[in-house]
Amino acid sequence: MKAIETEIAIIGGGIAGCSTALHVALRGVPVVLLEKRQPGAAASGVNFGGVRRNGRALEELTLAKRSIDIWHTLPELVGNDCEYAMNGHLKVARNDADMEAMETHAKAQAEYGCEVEMISRNALLARYPWFSDVAYGAAWCASDGQANPRLLGPSFAHAARRAGADIRENEPVAALEKDGDGFLLRSENGLEVRARQVLNAAGAWGARVAGWLSEKVELWPMMPQLVVTEPVPYFMEPALGVVGGDVYVRQIPRGNLIFGGRSGTADLDEGFGHAITEETLCTLERTVKVIPRMADVNIIRLWSGVEGCTPDHLPVLGPSRTTPGVMHAFGFSGHGFCLGPGVGAVMAELLLDGETKTPIEAFDIGRF
Ligand SMILES: Cc1cc2nc3c(=O)[nH]c(=O)nc-3n(C[C@H](O)[C@H](O)[C@H](O)COP(=O)(O)OP(=O)(O)OC[C@H]3O[C@@H](n4cnc5c(N)ncnc54)[C@H](O)[C@@H]3O)c2cc1C
Repeated sequence: MKAIETEIAIIGGGIAGCSTALHVALRGVPVVLLEKRQPGAAASGVNFGGVRRNGRALEELTLAKRSIDIWHTLPELVGNDCEYAMNGHLKVARNDADMEAMETHAKAQAEYGCEVEMISRNALLARYPWFSDVAYGAAWCASDGQANPRLLGPSFAHAARRAGADIRENEPVAALEKDGDGFLLRSENGLEVRARQVLNAAGAWGARVAGWLSEKVELWPMMPQLVVTEPVPYFMEPALGVVGGDVYVRQIPRGNLIFGGRSGTADLDEGFGHAITEETLCTLERTVKVIPRMADVNIIRLWSGVEGCTPDHLPVLGPSRTTPGVMHAFGFSGHGFCLGPGVGAVMAELLLDGETKTPIEAFDIGRF
């Protein structure tokens, strides 16, 4: 089989890979994306759907802002809004120490133009009478939102195809090697792609791909697990998360509640996350303590997904430190859905212009 020749090859069709493919294709540059399964089949398609800056690490705030600006343009960019809605996000405290820590973080976030309002317990209960008095107060970010993860990856992949990208499904890349002044990629099916530059957007498998270039990075799998209930009357407009991460909930206008807070299991070789029923019951118990009316809902489905987590919980974004011509975009540590549309814009700039206006120094693979 003759190798496909291209300018840029992307390994992985999650939101990081698909959004980069779109931004590269929109600049008229040939790009081939190889995805082991289907676009958005891994973490990007099974996550909670939170699009949030509230409580986010300061290093990620500028990238998150850039990304959220792109979220607002999805109908024009990819032809569909992916059910993105700017309904706001509540980070809920259970005690005074949580409130103080959130207040300090909110002040620091303000320096980045991210407005977060602190709400006292009385004001919170007046605004949202469905909280129990376990809720001690909250940080409110009106510019945060939520979206349907099942739509995002495929929408970016379709748009990238329309813009000229070659998106290959069911093509697990098995090898990546130097080839003259470029690279040769081989899939398990025997497909060969020759590219001048390569992007490693392999999600939880990103460290394996980096390992092919003798580049070591600690990345362990994290497997948050989620639950969806039957539809109940709509009462919860904002998405919310409780400090500590053991309870997070959102409701879609159709009425279904989606919530999570504990972990499933995963085997990277097999490639899937698996939910654990007992963990779900524990999540439900904790959630009901905060939102008592959820005691009466019926669960209809639970699932888990696999994400790559780095030691400092920040992603790996930018050039390889062993192999010029290779870029990395993986290890989003549980919060890369919000960042994904912006990551593609940034990676396209790095690949095509050699620089980006968005600060990403904190994400350099060399920091480990
Ligand atoms: C349950 C759960 C809840 C989450 N909730 C949120 C949230 O509310 N908000 C938020 O911002 N983030 C959330 N996240 C994190 C978010 O989903 C991820 O950070 C983001 O989707 C990562 O995108 P990605 O493109 O890096 O990875 P992925 O979507 O995992 O994509 C990587 C792709 O690479 C492919 N691949 C791997 N190896 C190869 C290979 N050798 N050849 C070809 N293809 C390969 C995989 O098949 C996969 O499709 C959550 C994650 C999970 C699992």
